[in-house]
Amino acid sequence: MTSSYVLVDDAFRELVDFDAELVKLADGCLWAEGPVWIPAESALVWSDTRNNREWRWTEADGASVFREPSNHANGHTLDRDGNIISCEHSSNSVTRRTPDGTYTTLVDSVAGGRLNSPNDVVVKSDGSIYFTDPPYGILSNAEGFQRESEIGANYVYRFDPDTEMTMVVADQFDRPNGLTFSPDESILYIADTGEPRNIRTMDVGPDGTLSNLQFFAAPDPPASDGLRVDLHGNVWTSAGDGVHVFSPDGNLIGRVKVPEKTANCEFGGPDGSTLFITASTSLYSIETQVVGARWA
Ligand code: MG
Repeated sequence: MTSSYVLVDDAFRELVDFDAELVKLADGCLWAEGPVWIPAESALVWSDTRNNREWRWTEADGASVFREPSNHANGHTLDRDGNIISCEHSSNSVTRRTPDGTYTTLVDSVAGGRLNSPNDVVVKSDGSIYFTDPPYGILSNAEGFQRESEIGANYVYRFDPDTEMTMVVADQFDRPNGLTFSPDESILYIADTGEPRNIRTMDVGPDGTLSNLQFFAAPDPPASDGLRVDLHGNVWTSAGDGVHVFSPDGNLIGRVKVPEKTANCEFGGPDGSTLFITASTSLYSIETQVVGARWA
């Protein structure tokens, strides 16, 4: 059997066991996205945005519908208290779901009007929430409801849950999409699925603002839609043919071959070393020899 892992640089040998098998855990989605691991429930939640549905998978029970309709939810992450933070296209909002199932809208508009369709989100250790707001949920009715953008731009925002203030932290992206912090949170990686279609980095200042925009990598075949960072700072990102793994200095060191166009990935499982992959119709997993940065 050929390995699902592809070695590009020897540095990849320390991150994976080439005998590990890619396992399909669920299928039947139109465009699987937004995976988040819930440690307290040993569960993975992900989005089937175009079916207006969210799914949940556990080792014991397999896959089941988690929320329907889901307001065309897309990206998810956890906050410091274990609540699910969701990006919802058709409510143009970022929401917080407490474990009892109560949803609270954190932000759905800014001074310029309603948000477009929040896509992906990450929470810093100080509780601040960074999210992207490209137009994918308003371009057509395929994954939201078609309408004009009230803001007229696609920004990256920072929401402070203490002050409930939302500020633009990056306006240099065409269609900002996935985002993730380096392990020490000094760098924010931001994927752009517009033009240019690549991953760029920005430095995170003490006040939470971003500066020093730099090119990081451009997965080929494209695109980086969602991405995660491991304990060592390697970047695991979706690409057209699976997951591509870049060292912290931006060199491609390895790949995970996936038989479907891939949207996103997430570290999870009992010890944080299982890589869950959302790819078009399906959810996959493969074991790694590293853990996600939040297991540090
Ligand atoms: Mg995305």
